[in-house]
Amino acid sequence: MNTTFHSTRGSSANLTSRQAIRQGLAGDGGLFVTDDLGKQQVDVSALVGKSYQDMALTVLGVLLPDFRASELDECVRAAYDSQWLDSAITPLKPLGDDYILELFNGPTSAFKDVALQILPQFMARTATAGTATNEKVMVLTATSGDTGKAALAGFADTGGTGITVFYPEGKVSEIQRLQMTTQTGSNVNVCAVKGNFDDAQTAVKRIFGDKDLAAKLEENNSVSLSSANSINVGRLVPQVVYYFSAYTQLIERGAIKVGDEVEFVVPTGNFGDILAGYYAKKLGLPVGRLTVASDRNNVLFDFLTTGAYNRERPFYQTTSPSMDILVSSNLERMLYYMSDGDTKLIGSLMSDLQSKGSFTIPDSLLERIRGLFSCGWADEDQVSQAITDCWNANRYVIDPHTACGYHVLTQMPQETAMPRVLLSTASPYKFPRVVGKALGLDTTGTDFDCMDRLCEATGTTAPKNLRGLEHATERFTDVISIDEMPDYVSNVSERL
Ligand SMILES: *Cc1c(COP(=O)(O)O)cnc(C)c1O
Repeated sequence: MNTTFHSTRGSSANLTSRQAIRQGLAGDGGLFVTDDLGKQQVDVSALVGKSYQDMALTVLGVLLPDFRASELDECVRAAYDSQWLDSAITPLKPLGDDYILELFNGPTSAFKDVALQILPQFMARTATAGTATNEKVMVLTATSGDTGKAALAGFADTGGTGITVFYPEGKVSEIQRLQMTTQTGSNVNVCAVKGNFDDAQTAVKRIFGDKDLAAKLEENNSVSLSSANSINVGRLVPQVVYYFSAYTQLIERGAIKVGDEVEFVVPTGNFGDILAGYYAKKLGLPVGRLTVASDRNNVLFDFLTTGAYNRERPFYQTTSPSMDILVSSNLERMLYYMSDGDTKLIGSLMSDLQSKGSFTIPDSLLERIRGLFSCGWADEDQVSQAITDCWNANRYVIDPHTACGYHVLTQMPQETAMPRVLLSTASPYKFPRVVGKALGLDTTGTDFDCMDRLCEATGTTAPKNLRGLEHATERFTDVISIDEMPDYVSNVSERL
């Protein structure tokens, strides 16, 4: 048994990757990591010319060592099939002198599909052998917009699991809200909460730490709780694959040779997407630089510039809601690895964050981090301008999240000849009003009117899953306070 997964804060038993996926978050509030990361390297040259699915098998085989190859094969085939609009899954396209990696061709039109199409497959294979077969998992997720729908689509009608999604009332786009409230499936629950994303995420984390609630759910209905947020290792590792895919696509285009370094610019919120790039580097991919692109909630920019992380700051609701985050959870994993696994340090930083709302890392650690990670951010005007500029320069339409990255990419002095890849995280059709406005289109009427005008003006097509929402039936209308979340979880778990 390969029991190497433990908490970033040190004080937890060692688990297999299977157990870590099932549990989600460590008992001490830390995130699961393994010190084996990077011990086994991936031979990049052997991946050139391979399909996305075959690449996924190789990379996941290294990252999830206790899954059998045959199991991973089943998971991969189910997750990356005809529900994707492009057979490359994450196609790389030229964007001027740079490149853009499209991560949004999945069933919900956001990059979260890459992970959330396969997480339910992993989860279904984590039931502990020898235990009662009526054991069920309730997956809990707080969403700033895109995770919720992607998780619902992934888990809907998956046996032995339920899925509950909390989203901040009034703080997701109309399309995002409809995507969630119209979700079909007998095991799905969607609920709006009064607060912002961080409030909801903090409450979900508190529910995971609630031992009494856990005991009650287990006793009454054999339900254990798990997470589909990017704090779950099963969410994180599938994202490592597309960094390899981007790299081999660059090779296939003749843009680089094996071994050449590449820079990735990543629209960032919870630090999951960009952390996957760091994992890819640890597995041997020649990643030269990882650039964090933030929106106006630029807590990561300040952190990477000064070494001080401070969540006590105004929260801005922007046109890129999936990046409106003040507590960037996966940063903890990066700090763990960058400090060579200093669990004491991580534990004390995170306790500072909890008690004081801030922490400061040692200068030597900051310097080390800055050797690999750079950062930038875009305010609302710059996001809008970036959408316009990208269209004018490249005839390519980007969404407001990707636009934060585009702004950072185009503002950054290009110091080296390293090829640069911008990760594109959502379809522009998820945010047709914001995008239409930036492009100077008429944005009166509904989001669907905006979609139609965007099609017409740019010659692109709206994904069916989004355009079809106009006439879908809304199933979920509950709005609750943060304090009511534990009871809500308890109620829906009873019905599982
Ligand atoms: C989730 C999301 C992000 C941020 O990704 P993280 O892994 O949270 O850093 C960026 N853009 C879009 C569209 C997203 O859905």
